[in-house]
Amino acid sequence: MSWSQVQQSEDLSGQLTILIGSAVRLLCGEHGLFVVANEAFDPHSSSEYVLYHFPENALSALLEWAQAGAQPNSQRPLVIDAVLPALVTRLTSIGPDSNGSHVFKRFERCSLFLYDPIGPLGILHCMRPANMRSCFEKGDIPDGTLRLLIAQIASGLRFALKAQSLVQEQERLAAIFQHSAEGILTVDNALRIIDFNPAMERLTGWHESEVLGRFYFEVLRPKDRMGNDLGLEDSPILQAFAGQPVINREMLISARDGQRFNVAVTASCVRSSKGEPTNGILNVRDITRERQQEEQRSTFISVISHELQTPIAIIKGYASTLARSDAQAQLNPNALHRRLTAIEEEADRLNKLVGNLLYASRIQAGGLHMDIAPLDLANLITVVTQRLLAKSPGVEVAVDIPPNLSTVMADRDRIEEVLQNLLDNAVKYSPRQRMISVACRATGDEVIVSISDTGMGIALREQEQIFDRFHRVGDAMTQVTPGAGLGLYICRAIVEAHGGHIWVESTLHQGSTFSFSLPREEKAQLPMVVF
Ligand code: ADP
Repeated sequence: MSWSQVQQSEDLSGQLTILIGSAVRLLCGEHGLFVVANEAFDPHSSSEYVLYHFPENALSALLEWAQAGAQPNSQRPLVIDAVLPALVTRLTSIGPDSNGSHVFKRFERCSLFLYDPIGPLGILHCMRPANMRSCFEKGDIPDGTLRLLIAQIASGLRFALKAQSLVQEQERLAAIFQHSAEGILTVDNALRIIDFNPAMERLTGWHESEVLGRFYFEVLRPKDRMGNDLGLEDSPILQAFAGQPVINREMLISARDGQRFNVAVTASCVRSSKGEPTNGILNVRDITRERQQEEQRSTFISVISHELQTPIAIIKGYASTLARSDAQAQLNPNALHRRLTAIEEEADRLNKLVGNLLYASRIQAGGLHMDIAPLDLANLITVVTQRLLAKSPGVEVAVDIPPNLSTVMADRDRIEEVLQNLLDNAVKYSPRQRMISVACRATGDEVIVSISDTGMGIALREQEQIFDRFHRVGDAMTQVTPGAGLGLYICRAIVEAHGGHIWVESTLHQGSTFSFSLPREEKAQLPMVVF
């Protein structure tokens, strides 16, 4: 709520108290309260009260008692009752009179039904000295005077209550505006910004105070999906002014720092009683994530089809050569062996890809089971690195494992896959420098394994994303390297299922170090994670 709204609402409640106070005084009362009839201004709100010199802690006692007694109504608008002695003791907080006795002892309740032609507004309860009568109740004054008094108070109250309900509505709208997850901006009929909500500030990086009064097109700098500037004739708000609905129209807008992102905008307009547009409202929804997911899906399709087609084409090519009747005669044993080895390698590649795809979908479905047991990492690393050296001539691996390295609690097969993936990547993405090192160290609770290469490295902005499904760095070198962007996603899922972490430190063109941690056997909490 803005300061002016707080002020408005305080002013209104002050006015209501003055109004009720005057009515209480006119009825010769000293203390009083007005109970608002809900339907008078807001059927959804709970009971509301306006107190005049009336202690709040005596409120429920008085209401209970007043509601049990006779109720005034439009036929009999005034009811007077002696205050029961039992209640007097509960209402002592009003304080003693000048003689030292409690005021309520000699008080009576005078309840006035307040209504107007639209309906009831509520009941005014006054506490006044017993037998005191106002000029509106004296026998020589006609009943019409009391009705006139009721009409006067009711009209003032109707106005004040209406204003109060408008302020409350304004507060509700302000809360929606402030807390909406979608960006909202409003403009005047000259398209100058008059409101800019916090979601809009977060989205664009502009602070409301910097954009108020500015032309909204100049702040958002909208472009179409192809990146071409939108002309004013394409302004969504102008279109809404012209009576053409704009719903979820996609465009690019620019943040304060110039960064562009995809949004879907909906424009609407507020019109005067003559039907002229007075304000435009623009709802802005950030759809960057949706677009990224769409891109990911299409990357996935192209990567997978490429990754599947390449080995299939190679296998088919070699197999057809070998199937020819003259193949035996034409190919020497070496050439034959080379072709058979290529078929085997490509079949392995296919097998790995299909395996990874199944793995990824099992991870997503949450159905991967772990067989956790104490694991000697040093032994596993030796097995995996020797296998790598055997299949990758020209690669050097330096292993640095401290003696007596603590055992970890892990699923041997899964951790083997993690090591295998990280080592394969280290080789794949280091086309020239084929020096790889594997190091282990124990910390208080964990053992950390690090695999370093001196290859192409990874730009900082990519480092978090490479663990996402199907994410591959978009440079030329990666494009020509086989892969589907699943290996690191699987590694992360496996390591995190063990209660560990995986991360990368890398410098572009210099190399990368991928590290992961696993809980030490004596520190691991059993039973272990199953996912
Ligand atoms: P892929 O099958 O594409 O290798 P990964 O999930 O294993 O899938 O890796 C995702 C991406 O991270 C790779 O496409 C590559 O761009 C980058 N990457 C992974 N490991 C390395 C590394 N050691 N050096 C440089 N880039 C790497």
